[in-house]
Amino acid sequence: MRSVDVIIVGASLSAAAAAKRLVDAGLETIVLERKELPRHKICSGILSPRGHRFLLENFGPLPREALHEPTSCRGVTFHFPSMVSMTMDFFGGTTPHLHRKYSDYWAIKSSGAEIHDRTSFAGLEDHGDHVVVQARKNGEPVAYRARQVIGADGPSSLVIRAIYPDYPQTIPWFFVGQKFHDIIDCPLSPDYFHFWFHPGLGHYTWSHARDGRQIVGVGFKRGDNFAKKHQNVVNYLAEKHGVRLHPHTEDEGCGENFGPSLINRYVFGKGNVLITGQAAGFLNMIGEGMSCALHSGAISGEAVVEARLRNRPVQEMYRRMIASEVRRTTDQWNPLKIAFDRPHEADFPAALMALGWRDRAKVLRDLWRFVVLYKEFKWGRQIFRAAMQRPFMSGYSMQRWL
Ligand SMILES: Cc1cc2nc3c(=O)[nH]c(=O)nc-3n(C[C@H](O)[C@H](O)[C@H](O)COP(=O)(O)OP(=O)(O)OC[C@H]3O[C@@H](n4cnc5c(N)ncnc54)[C@H](O)[C@@H]3O)c2cc1C
Repeated sequence: MRSVDVIIVGASLSAAAAAKRLVDAGLETIVLERKELPRHKICSGILSPRGHRFLLENFGPLPREALHEPTSCRGVTFHFPSMVSMTMDFFGGTTPHLHRKYSDYWAIKSSGAEIHDRTSFAGLEDHGDHVVVQARKNGEPVAYRARQVIGADGPSSLVIRAIYPDYPQTIPWFFVGQKFHDIIDCPLSPDYFHFWFHPGLGHYTWSHARDGRQIVGVGFKRGDNFAKKHQNVVNYLAEKHGVRLHPHTEDEGCGENFGPSLINRYVFGKGNVLITGQAAGFLNMIGEGMSCALHSGAISGEAVVEARLRNRPVQEMYRRMIASEVRRTTDQWNPLKIAFDRPHEADFPAALMALGWRDRAKVLRDLWRFVVLYKEFKWGRQIFRAAMQRPFMSGYSMQRWL
């Protein structure tokens, strides 16, 4: 059985950040990835400026193949049912439009960790002073021994299930699907990511340009008909925005643990097993998860290094160090922070104030109607209550973290 300092499960951005910290500190690190690398990852690929800084500072400039066309994004345009649109540029200029297949591969290789792809995590046993990890490589069982394990395996994390089998039932799950269309005519600016706060379209509706095609995406509940919801959005874009598209040529979708960061149900692990990235619950209200994946991943790696240097339990170290990232991500859901502060990296208050007072009132009314939509979901009432209470919460009740 191969014995190393740390096993990381998943070869995505949180894993790359964790691996970088561990390898830099001289710890022997293996990354297990179930797919063959470079692997596809469903994602719009709009990296926030903070995420971009992280990549530059830790891995250097992005190679060209790690970018889609258009190679950068200027910001976000929010569209409302009253037909008011608000365009917000990112702070500090444009950000890269990542091609996740290649950006993630580049980052994980740059971390210096040893990578075992086509190797699926299957289970673990924590023996106190070491962890035994069971995996399957090309269908054959393979075992590893490590001092610590980091679960960076995304929303449907098997590492979480190995330590908390019931966790998936305790958090909200939503589904997202996107279709790729050849364009006949598209007046939506390709320089921006477009998002609709429209209760008639769904709780999460977006569109953007990629490699000469237009992506139209929509969120839906378990049991909803994705094709119908998507067609509804396509019809709306045609009618209201003059977007004319050919029938889609490709589609894809997945389940998302959207909301743990709002209702404070983060999961950070147990014993020698740490959970990080989106698996831990880091994802903000507009579904931006790469920058918090990178930062939380780096913190998980630092926590392992610090725990060893100080001879402290790794969980204690991780929970203390991760608090700043929790606060940052949770604040991004806080309506008062959004209205009066800048928790996101584009200036919502300035864009709102740039509107005439009539349009401003329409936007606020539309936003309220949109938030009320969340009450329809199984977890919606809880999410709605949490969003309303968020501004009045004095702390970040740590006891609700797992
Ligand atoms: C449609 C869509 C659009 C999005 N758009 C954006 C965006 O524009 N900007 C943004 O910032 N975020 C976006 N996100 C969110 C972003 O993609 C994620 O938050 C981010 O990728 C999380 O990174 P991660 O490292 O935590 O995990 P992931 O990227 O989910 O990676 C997990 C890795 O673990 C591997 N894995 C899983 N199970 C196992 C196993 N058992 N054994 C071994 N390996 C395993 C997977 O194959 C994968 O490589 C979007 C998400 C979706 C679904």
